[in-house]
Amino acid sequence: MGKNIVVAGLGHGGIVAAALLAEKGFDVTVYEKNSEGALGYDWTDMFDPKALEFAGLPMPPADKFRYKENMTFCGPGCKKAITQYITEKDMEIIMERKDIYTYLIGIALEKGVKIVYDCEVLGPISIGDRVVGIKTAKGDVSADLVIDSCGMNSSVRRNLPVGLHIQNEIENEGKIIIYRAFYNKCSDEETLGKFKIILFAGGHPGISWVASHESYTDVLIGRFSSFDKDDVVEFTEFLRRNNPRLGKECLRGGQFVEIPVRHALSVMVADGYAAIGDCAFMTMPLIGSGIANAIRAAKILADTIVKDTYGFYSAETLWEYQVEYYNKVGGVISTLECVKNSLVKLTPQDVDYLFTSELVTSDDMKIIAGLSDINEIISTIKKGVSKKVKGIKNNKHLVAVVSGIGADMCKVLLVLSRMPKKWDREKVYRWAKAYDKAFKYKK
Ligand SMILES: Cc1cc2nc3c(=O)[nH]c(=O)nc-3n(C[C@H](O)[C@H](O)[C@H](O)COP(=O)(O)OP(=O)(O)OC[C@H]3O[C@@H](n4cnc5c(N)ncnc54)[C@H](O)[C@@H]3O)c2cc1C
Repeated sequence: MGKNIVVAGLGHGGIVAAALLAEKGFDVTVYEKNSEGALGYDWTDMFDPKALEFAGLPMPPADKFRYKENMTFCGPGCKKAITQYITEKDMEIIMERKDIYTYLIGIALEKGVKIVYDCEVLGPISIGDRVVGIKTAKGDVSADLVIDSCGMNSSVRRNLPVGLHIQNEIENEGKIIIYRAFYNKCSDEETLGKFKIILFAGGHPGISWVASHESYTDVLIGRFSSFDKDDVVEFTEFLRRNNPRLGKECLRGGQFVEIPVRHALSVMVADGYAAIGDCAFMTMPLIGSGIANAIRAAKILADTIVKDTYGFYSAETLWEYQVEYYNKVGGVISTLECVKNSLVKLTPQDVDYLFTSELVTSDDMKIIAGLSDINEIISTIKKGVSKKVKGIKNNKHLVAVVSGIGADMCKVLLVLSRMPKKWDREKVYRWAKAYDKAFKYKK
């Protein structure tokens, strides 16, 4: 024990892994570029609290969270809405991002984790194929293992040697551009569906929401192509027609950010290195939620590291982390990318038609929100595809897209079932190539 573990970036997965490892006697230090108290975004997040239970963490203080309400989905024309009904046990919680950090960092510090703030990580230090530390703005740091929790554009992952076959850059189709802001409340008038998700809002492939709260309205605009402040003004004007509470004054947020919306890395470990959270693309492909997945991954990674009693932390011993992650979480996420890759081929008119003709169901929306398990997804798709195809038989384009979802999922699940259970460099790299190819974005 007492091995020296460095966590690059104070991401959610990194901080939880750090806490679980420090508890077991590891010497863990986190290097974070931001200052203490200046972490995260100025807004709220939703996540599944079952992830905390999975990682053996207590619930956050009761006054720091509330349960999320059901979401109502509609197409770009907002003509017909479908409400998702989530049972109480599956409800996500809403928390301020800053409170999530305070809560997780509090646990980590209590277990003995050291955090170095204001310290940018510049890249990995490697000898041959082994990562042996990180370069930081304050000097080099050596480590028996580097856990990369630096987010989607991690400076560590992007600078890893190409021979490790860990994808350095994320492709444009693998991310969504998000604008999010909280606006003032300018009316007491209630709207139908307090938390409305609009697919292809404004006619652009993507997912957006408008959620009314007691004293403000939360607006998120997510598109697969870039947009600017003028587009935001135009779209919020459109939203005001159906959401009279939505004022014009931006109270909080108001930035553009990017989130990965794709399958997790096909290789996330190397000798002396493991990626976690957004760095390993562990978000949900349609809605970009990644906190719960990062926390679950942290538990799996910490268990894998503890099991490596000789302290090799090699690709061979860390591979079990990837296999377990895919078994418990990543497989479902992969099937959601198939749904996303098909949906982006639809036209706004197609999406409206699917809603107004009642061909999409509450169960489909549960899948989109990433709340179904793999068996539910397969059975919903199996039941739904033939009904939908019958309902759209005169629209060849729509038939091709909808029936393609099931076919793509089968292909991905087949490749996934062939993931090597044990590390074998050649076999793993061959498998990873086939897996990434199964998602190739097709127009
Ligand atoms: C607008 C928006 C809304 C979201 N809403 C939700 C939601 O409701 N629910 C949900 O589950 N998820 C949500 N997400 C996604 C969620 O933020 C991530 O999936 C989750 O935080 C896991 O990412 P991460 O912690 O690994 O990475 P990040 O959140 O990117 O954290 C990375 C950390 O590393 C630090 N860092 C980065 N580079 C360096 C460097 N070079 N040196 C040192 N430190 C570095 C960063 O400062 C940061 O602290 C949202 C994301 C965005 C952008």
